[in-house]
Amino acid sequence: MPLEKVSKIWMDGELVDWDEAKVHVLTHALHYGFGVFEGIRAYETARGPAVFRLREHIERLHNSARIMMIDLTYSVDELVEAVKETVRVNEIPSCYIRPIVYTGYGEMGLNPLPCPISTTIAVWPWGTYLGDEGIKNGIRLKISSWQRHDPNAIPPAAKATGMYINSSLAKVEALKAGYDEAVLLSPQGYVSECTGENIFIVKNGRIITPPVSAGALEGITQDSVATIARDLGIEYTTGNILRSDLYTADEAFLSGTAAEVVPIRSVDDRDLGEPGPVTRRIQDTYFSVVKGEVDRYKDWNEYVNA
Ligand code: PMP
Repeated sequence: MPLEKVSKIWMDGELVDWDEAKVHVLTHALHYGFGVFEGIRAYETARGPAVFRLREHIERLHNSARIMMIDLTYSVDELVEAVKETVRVNEIPSCYIRPIVYTGYGEMGLNPLPCPISTTIAVWPWGTYLGDEGIKNGIRLKISSWQRHDPNAIPPAAKATGMYINSSLAKVEALKAGYDEAVLLSPQGYVSECTGENIFIVKNGRIITPPVSAGALEGITQDSVATIARDLGIEYTTGNILRSDLYTADEAFLSGTAAEVVPIRSVDDRDLGEPGPVTRRIQDTYFSVVKGEVDRYKDWNEYVNA
C-alpha cells in the first residue's frame, strides 16, 4: 500500500512540505546504509494524540548513534519536542513516526566520519502492520534460511538502516513461500527474532523471550510486554530458545511498535491453535495502555497537546 501523505516533514529543524522532503542521489547513507532510525507510534486518546514511550525511543536512537559513532546534532530533549511538533502540525489523531539520522551529501567512501549528518522526522497514518486478521487470529511464521547476523558482524543493539537488508531478505523469502513473517536464527542456531519484531513463547504459563545475545533488538514493546506480564502476575524470563521450542509452545506471540502484539498461529506449519489466554491478556492490556486507558502506565503516554 502506498504511503498516505500528510502535510509536513521535519528536516534538520525545518518543517518542509511532504513533496519537497527530498535528498540528493549522492547522499552517503543511500550508498552504504549508514544511518540509525526509530519506529514509534502515536495513538488516539481521550486527550488527543499520545506518543507511546517517546523518550525511550529517542534514547535508543542516541544509543544506536553512539554505537555507529554518529555525532547527533540534536539532544534527546530536542528530538522529543521535534517529534511532538511534527505530530501536532500534521493534525492527525494517530500515526507511525519515523525519525532517521543518516550520513548526508558531501563526502563519499566507506569512512562515514567526515560526512554531514542529517536528521529527519516523518509521520504518516499506518494501520496494522501484519493485518487485522493477524492481530485477531494469529499469523503463520516460517524459520528463515537467512541467519540473523553475528553481533560481531553488525551490532544488534544499534537500530541501523543497513542491517535491515538481512530482515528484507528473510521477509521476502517468507512471503514468497506463502507465510506472513520470518523467524531468524542466530549463527549458533538459537531463535533470535522476526524481521522487525521480538518473539515470545508461553510454556507452562511462563513467557520466555530470546536475549540480545541471540541477536535480538532490545524492543521497547518487548519491555512493555515484560512489565505488563509481571504486573498481571505472569512469570516472564529471557532465555535461549530453539526452533523446536516454537513448535511445542503452548502459545507464541510477537511484539513491535509497528506490529504491536500479534499472536502466532503456526511455525513451519506446526499449528499452535487459537491465540491462547496469556497472549490475549497481554494483547488486550497493551491496546488499552497505548490508548492511555490504564492509569498505572500513564507515564508511557506522551501527549502532544499537553
Ligand atoms: N526487532 C527488530 C529487528 C525491529 O526492527 C524492531 C522494531 N523496532 C523490534 C525488534 C521491536 O522493537 P520495538 O518494540 O522497540 O519497536
